[in-house]
Amino acid sequence: MKIMKFGGTSVGSPERIRSVAALVAGLDEPMVVVLSAMSGTTNSLVEIAGSLRNNNPDEAREKINLLEKRYEQVVSDLFETSEYMDKGAEMIRNHFRYLDSFTQDLFTANEVKCVLAQGELISTALFQFHLEERNIPSVLLPALNFMRIDREQEPDQYYIRENIQRETDKYPDNRLFITQGFICRNAYGEIDNLRRGGSDYSASLIGSAVDASTIVIWTDIDGFHDNDPRFVEQTHPIAELSFDEAAELAYFGAKILHPSTILPAKVAGIPVIIKNTLDPGATGTTISDKPAGKGVKAIAAKDGITAIRVKSGRMLLAYGFMRKVFEIFELYKTPIDMITTSEISVSVTIDDLTHLTQVTGDLQHYGTVEVDHDQTIVCAVGEGISSETNIAAGLFKALEGIPIRMISYGGSQNNISILIPSAFKKQALNALSSHLFSH
Ligand code: ADP
Ligand code: ASP
Ligand code: MG
Repeated sequence: MKIMKFGGTSVGSPERIRSVAALVAGLDEPMVVVLSAMSGTTNSLVEIAGSLRNNNPDEAREKINLLEKRYEQVVSDLFETSEYMDKGAEMIRNHFRYLDSFTQDLFTANEVKCVLAQGELISTALFQFHLEERNIPSVLLPALNFMRIDREQEPDQYYIRENIQRETDKYPDNRLFITQGFICRNAYGEIDNLRRGGSDYSASLIGSAVDASTIVIWTDIDGFHDNDPRFVEQTHPIAELSFDEAAELAYFGAKILHPSTILPAKVAGIPVIIKNTLDPGATGTTISDKPAGKGVKAIAAKDGITAIRVKSGRMLLAYGFMRKVFEIFELYKTPIDMITTSEISVSVTIDDLTHLTQVTGDLQHYGTVEVDHDQTIVCAVGEGISSETNIAAGLFKALEGIPIRMISYGGSQNNISILIPSAFKKQALNALSSHLFSH
């Protein structure tokens, strides 16, 4: 079994949907096709949910109508027969009537997730109808019947494996399954999701659950690039990455993969291949357990970081201080990314500010606390780079003139992370690319 995940741009228009259908129909391996919502849809749904949360049903209705118009056009362009135009139109009407129903009543926080789920439910229904219209045998598997997260918001891998198996076993002769990325149920059976960009994660969780041979992530670029193409002009695709390299890059902000995508694939030993739907012949990137050569492979950046420094004379020659500091973050379920320490102070970074006031309030019992917002972690990734001579020296030379707030070196063999004010991000990414990859 092979997993093929198509992102928002890859199914972003009737024309794109047709070429994805042609691509999957032309392959003869059994397959689970995981689809995102059509591009722009989840953003529109986030805005609709925002208007509803702000008690502005009129504004929400306007946005719902606008999005519905877009889908009416998609239906009329995608289908050829009146039978499927009618089926498509009715399906769209039902989803939008459902969205409309939220404008009539009080809107609860849980219902946000129901609104966000509509994008993937619609894209997969359109795709399935399109395959049926073209007489391509396939089965639509509802992700809400097998994809599930537990109380800690972590995927319930046992449940997923059992249930997807049960669902696919109902169709022993079928070779092409279609399902939704991103959406799932939570521990209470409610509709939930795997966070923005989560369809990649769905693909790797499904891959691991069905013991897939490969997980192919089809997107709008020809593979993992050596820097973020949204900020750097000259970037190049990387042919091979190790699981560890790709995991660090995804975690530290490379938007091309959801941060959690790699782990299930790595544990199950399933290669992840990134391909371009707009240029299927391009090599793309293969991510596997094969060592992928020396040197820095790529740079990634993660925004929205806050640095917290705790300074205390009591830390000098004392033991147990760090434990107390970390317990506070644990108490408020706030993950820490980077850490640096000196004899009398410790700095950490976080990106979840939900409990910032409580965290800093408690930290004040142990010393003076300083908080710096709007920071960016820039990280260089490559297997073993922290034990190669001259790599760090080169990075710092490239960053000349850029204020550095923290450095993390040696924590991972594969990663050198530097915290800088976000205002310097673009300059830093470009300087690193010209230093590392221009020849
Ligand atoms: P999809 O909708 O297919 O999931 P995404 O927009 O989530 O696509 O991810 C692809 C985009 O990620 C690219 O178009 C590119 O702008 C951005 N990106 C950021 N960093 C990288 C990188 N290192 N390599 C390739 N693309 C990157
Ligand atoms: N549609 C979802 C999003 O836009 C999930 C995804 O595209 O991966 O975040
Ligand atoms: Mg994505």
